[in-house]
Amino acid sequence: MDTVARDVRGMTMIDDLAERLRAGERRALARAITLVESARADHRAQAAELLAALGTAKQALRIGLSGTPGVGKSTFIEAFGLMLTAQGLRVAVLAVDPSSARSGGSILGDKTRMERLSRDELAFIRPSPSQTQLGGVARRTREAVALCEAAGFDVVLIETVGVGQSETVVAEMSDLFVLLLAPAGGDELQGVKRGIMEIADLILVNKADGELKSQALRTCADYAGALRLMRKRPEDPEGFPKAIAVSALETQGLDAAWGDMQTLINWRRDNGIWAARRRDQARFWFHEEVRVQLLARLRDDPAMRARLEAAEADVAAGRVLPSVAAAGVVDPAFPAKT
Ligand code: GDP
Repeated sequence: MDTVARDVRGMTMIDDLAERLRAGERRALARAITLVESARADHRAQAAELLAALGTAKQALRIGLSGTPGVGKSTFIEAFGLMLTAQGLRVAVLAVDPSSARSGGSILGDKTRMERLSRDELAFIRPSPSQTQLGGVARRTREAVALCEAAGFDVVLIETVGVGQSETVVAEMSDLFVLLLAPAGGDELQGVKRGIMEIADLILVNKADGELKSQALRTCADYAGALRLMRKRPEDPEGFPKAIAVSALETQGLDAAWGDMQTLINWRRDNGIWAARRRDQARFWFHEEVRVQLLARLRDDPAMRARLEAAEADVAAGRVLPSVAAAGVVDPAFPAKT
């Protein structure tokens, strides 16, 4: 990567990278993703140039996938990915793992995961970048999605662990959102947060095999019932959102899941919903980026940073309300006016 940064013919290097990436070279894709993940200013500039050169002409089906650790995400993605590559589809897997920043090691980045899929010529697997901020991970992942699309991938799976806001972030960059769940005991709904149920297009109850099968089927029926009660979305065809039982281990129900995903996405494409959703997402991320970049610029200014820190201390000490302190930072004349 350093050769890219230091080469005086930066343009040529980027052009070359763009060309190899467009030709679908996985090594070029990996290198390009490393470039967009870099925090270095010169890399950022090159990444921006690369993304601009690549354009947005090619688009993949973007599938967000979430589930708690141990639910079977890697087993599912490997089996599902291999099923798709067997059909000649090119599959990229990207991970959003905010926990990796805290723990220092990423469970999603474990190299032993999805070994067979990673050896598949038609597949590309990229672990989560180690970043402290979910916002930073989000931008890098969106740019990595764009790179995968430019490299001609048909399906981009964006995987996340079921923690906090990462599902919402992933849903905002996906065409479809799939939630993977394990069979639950009794009729408890596994404490799945309502918000996550609301963004899921497809709930897959995994491990519907062996001794767990009947329990998985019951869990699936519970979720199907809960989904019916929760809402009927005008943007979805009859029967969606849906809950189905699968076994990643025995590759059962994966073709049905893929069939459901295609039904849903084709319906959304035919009804203009897919395009509208992409437009909304583009707008959402634009405003998010403006916010993030404005804040970064504020923090880069020493006088402003001092004001921010003083205001933060006031807020923490309970001397000023957060909203009042924020208004004072943004507009120093604010307190005088009130
Ligand atoms: P992840 O943490 O969500 O990526 O989960 P893994 O894919 O690593 O799976 C966790 C454990 O569940 C492993 O021991 C898997 O073998 C097992 N597992 C995954 N899918 C299935 C399944 O469909 N059926 C059964 N019985 N076990 C499964």
